[in-house]
Amino acid sequence: MSSKRELIISKIRDGVVIDHIPAGRALLVLRLLGISGREGGFRVALVMNVESRKLGIKDIVKIEGRELTKDELNLVALVAPTATVNIIRDYEVISKFKVAIPDVIEGLLKCKNPRCITNQQREPIRSRFRVLSREPLKLVCDYCGTIHELNDIEKYFGLA
Ligand SMILES: [Zn+2]
Repeated sequence: MSSKRELIISKIRDGVVIDHIPAGRALLVLRLLGISGREGGFRVALVMNVESRKLGIKDIVKIEGRELTKDELNLVALVAPTATVNIIRDYEVISKFKVAIPDVIEGLLKCKNPRCITNQQREPIRSRFRVLSREPLKLVCDYCGTIHELNDIEKYFGLA
């Protein structure tokens, strides 16, 4: 068991391992980090549907040579609230923490209501959402009150 686990987690030199992603959401995590697989640069490994004591089955994403910004961590937390982030340097885990869903998400997602003031082209306003519920995810646009769910985030990132 444990050797299998090490095989999965410990093979990148410098970068980030996002573990305990709910099964089926690894691709969404990659998309929201802006990694499509086309733009070279980062070596990425997706491990999908592996056994997890905590979750039953889970996904894992490993990204070589990449760090995550605070905004990116917030987005990851929205779609994978169970995720654990491991920062790897020279093959060692130097830092490990759980993601935390913030109460407010600003400027990272677009409201799906085309008439929302945040979608006006003349005077664009930074989008702002409040988190109403974490699991299942429910976000409300602070300007027009439109409710957004996981499915809307998948659409926004081109996956639904
Ligand atoms: Zn809105």
